[in-house]
Amino acid sequence: MAQPATLWHAIDAVEVLRQLEADPGGLAPDIAARRLQAHGPNALPPPQRTPGWRRLLRQLDDPLILFLLAAAVVAAVLAHYVDAGVIAAVVLVNAIVGFVQEGRAEQALSALRSMLAPSARVLRGGAREQVAVETLVPGDVLLLEAGDRIAADARLLRGRGLRVDESVLTGESVPIEKSVEPVATGADLGSRTSMLYSGTLVAAGQATALVVATGPQTQIGRIGTLLGEVESLTTPLLQQIARFGKVFTTVALVASAALLLFAVLVRGYGWLDALMIVVALAVGAIPEGLPAVITITLAIGVRRMAARNAIVRRLPAVETLGATTVICSDKTGTLTRNEMTARSIATVAGRVEAQGGGYAPTGVLVARDGGDAALATAQRVARIGLLCNDAQLHADGDGHWRIDGDPMEAALLALAGKAGFDGAAMRNAHPRLDEVPFDAAHRFMATLHADAEGAGALVCVKGAPEQVLALCTAQAGRDGGAGPLDAAFWQQSIDAAGGEGQRVLGFAWRRLERVPERFVLDDIGELVFAGLVGFIDPPREEAIRAVADCRAAGIAVKMITGDHAATAAAIAEQLRLADDVRVVTGQELEGVTDAELPELAGRASVFARTTPEHKLRIVRALQSRGHTVAMTGDGVNDAPSLKQADIGVAMGRKGTEAAKEASGMVLADDNFASIAAAVHEGRAVYDNIRKVIAFTLPTNGGEALAVILAIVFGWVLPMTPPQILWINMVLAITLGLALAFEPPESGLMARPPRRRDAPLVSAFMLWRIVLVSILFSVGAFGIFAWAQGRGHDVATTRTMVVNMFCVMEIFYLFSVRYLHGTSFSLRGLRGTPAVLWAIVAVVLAQLAFTYLPWMHVLFGSRPLPLFEGIVIVASGAALMGLLEVEKALLRRIGVFEELGPVPADERAT
Ligand code: ATP
Repeated sequence: MAQPATLWHAIDAVEVLRQLEADPGGLAPDIAARRLQAHGPNALPPPQRTPGWRRLLRQLDDPLILFLLAAAVVAAVLAHYVDAGVIAAVVLVNAIVGFVQEGRAEQALSALRSMLAPSARVLRGGAREQVAVETLVPGDVLLLEAGDRIAADARLLRGRGLRVDESVLTGESVPIEKSVEPVATGADLGSRTSMLYSGTLVAAGQATALVVATGPQTQIGRIGTLLGEVESLTTPLLQQIARFGKVFTTVALVASAALLLFAVLVRGYGWLDALMIVVALAVGAIPEGLPAVITITLAIGVRRMAARNAIVRRLPAVETLGATTVICSDKTGTLTRNEMTARSIATVAGRVEAQGGGYAPTGVLVARDGGDAALATAQRVARIGLLCNDAQLHADGDGHWRIDGDPMEAALLALAGKAGFDGAAMRNAHPRLDEVPFDAAHRFMATLHADAEGAGALVCVKGAPEQVLALCTAQAGRDGGAGPLDAAFWQQSIDAAGGEGQRVLGFAWRRLERVPERFVLDDIGELVFAGLVGFIDPPREEAIRAVADCRAAGIAVKMITGDHAATAAAIAEQLRLADDVRVVTGQELEGVTDAELPELAGRASVFARTTPEHKLRIVRALQSRGHTVAMTGDGVNDAPSLKQADIGVAMGRKGTEAAKEASGMVLADDNFASIAAAVHEGRAVYDNIRKVIAFTLPTNGGEALAVILAIVFGWVLPMTPPQILWINMVLAITLGLALAFEPPESGLMARPPRRRDAPLVSAFMLWRIVLVSILFSVGAFGIFAWAQGRGHDVATTRTMVVNMFCVMEIFYLFSVRYLHGTSFSLRGLRGTPAVLWAIVAVVLAQLAFTYLPWMHVLFGSRPLPLFEGIVIVASGAALMGLLEVEKALLRRIGVFEELGPVPADERAT
């Protein structure tokens, strides 16, 4: 390894192999392991994290917190040391809680990121292998295809139509064509066309390349930039809430100042007393813990989605998912199982059926009609399928067959086995010389093989039948010769197989006198059509259920597939995508203007024979109709439509890095049902955030009202500022947090999707917040008046008011858990573990507040007699009863549409 790293581009590929003591078949596993020891992992040092103390201090950078700290200083100056200490302590606790929660949310996100850790395909010891990119070493042979993110610096060994997007490295946005020829020693980075660089993206083609540098030795490692932007922990919703919070804080502070003047000038309070009252008001009115609780709610949602195989890459996707109105899904592998079985072969001589399931290359071909002639012609088709193939089948020993590559190609290998071919022998007899890889844009693949004897060559082609037919000028006859092409006959066969939901491929070949000098897309033509193979790929059972769930939830499901219209339509029927499945083909889309498209896209439920460009048009058209669109994709060409969609959903298994990076969410199991599950969770998260808000704000409203009323009427304050902080920070946050863990309400997927522009706080919630605020302050003053009537001193009276708030909050928590239904159900009263734990914690804290002597010193509280306690709890229960009656009444009157009818299962309980 004597070559200076900068010179690999200038020397011959063979020489590079020699210098790196590498083999085109890959390193032996033990050598790779030793090199890993020597070179270290192929990873860049992680970015410097902001130190902990800075992040903790950042928590204090908030106008409200600064205001509170100022209040603490004022209290200290005025010798209210205990109050000053309590306020400062509460602020500190708040900062620590925020800090810890932020850390946990960040951890949750980075755990997700590691679930998405990229891998690379390499040759090791002659066999293809998928390895973690960290384990790549110099000398590894990388196998690359369109959409891959290159994981190390590598010297090209072999490339086919290779173009690489190097914009991350050079800023050049047009993909660069690459070839194996060495370039001048002095060539700059952008001109080293024989090299591939870590972090860049394969835009098109295929390649084999030899790793020459890993980790910090790569170009990107030396520049020191790290790829992959650091995910910020924010979403449009959180930003909206933060903005709202700022405005709210300002208003609260201005109102407090006005009240201060009023208290001093009109009511004749002393400045000191008035100041403490104002602090009480500001502290009471502002929901200090709300942003933290909402972030946690989002983080919990993300975790729940991951448990259901939907890995969120961007936090905003969690919110958008709940508002999804259309899901555009691929067919193969997402709605269907992608476990292909080649069922039938159709040739001019007749129809042959393959027996035996799975990928086992054992079984027989049976002629349905056409007899031996059909079998003989079918064999020719099977042979093309064997040669024009990149997949591999491995026996696992216990009768299981593992596939490596495209399932449809693996099925063709199994078919060839059933036709009696020995794959290895056939490949040896006709070694592959060149190929035109499959591409969704031209929908076929061609390979060039050496003839068994002589200087001739054999071209094998397979692909979408109409595409292959278009390249043919003749068809195989019964006797092995060639005759004129009967396109109508084939079209009939294609339609018949497609109508049964079979996926159909066409096969053709051509014999050449001599090996051509070049073999590119445009050279392929004048082929002889050999026949068709029909594959079955049944819909996933869980996808059928998920489609039904989505439709019930008012979400349309549209299939966008590269497959044939008849096949797609048959599968769509099996999935029951729509009552009346309408199919639009890519060709029809071409003929439709952008103005007409939205209407058509809205009506159709299947788009067949589409290209990735069509996908982009379809997303835009649906969005122009006001839809919130989730779109799946896997290829590099899907990236634009994945980005355009409101939520791009990439396939975790068969998806390319390019598609994953363009997406907001990745499906670990490539399964449509996981999208539906994510939508379900997305709706639940949104509901929970609204519940957290609906729960928190009335507490603040109630407290603020109580303080304002006290001043306006010149009463003594019902609670002191530290007591208000206690209610907000200890009681309200603990209980509010329980709502973050709420399971989805029943009937969640029976509701229509939420409108994207719908305000977070709906009319019903606003009414609720106002009503409950009033009820809270009435409760507080009721208890206040009653306590004074019974002759309690101010300290005991205030303790009763704080306890009243606590009890009202606990009962209100039960009420708010069901925004849409009654809380008086078995399920409602049993609560969740989170709710029960929160209540236990709050009750214990409140008992400590009331009965522990040091709490008396800190908060000025006093022990309460049992009877007052009972009255307080009974008042809280009465409040909940009142709110439930109100909810039922409102539903009956039908003022607030969102309340909806009572779900059936709740009626039952
Ligand atoms: P979906 O878009 O739902 O995943 P698809 O797999 O059919 O469906 P593409 O991968 O774009 O979509 O394939 C389009 C068509 O190209 C297929 O219907 C098939 O006729 C043909 N095709 C797919 N894979 C190959 C291949 N490896 N070799 C040759 N032709 C292929």
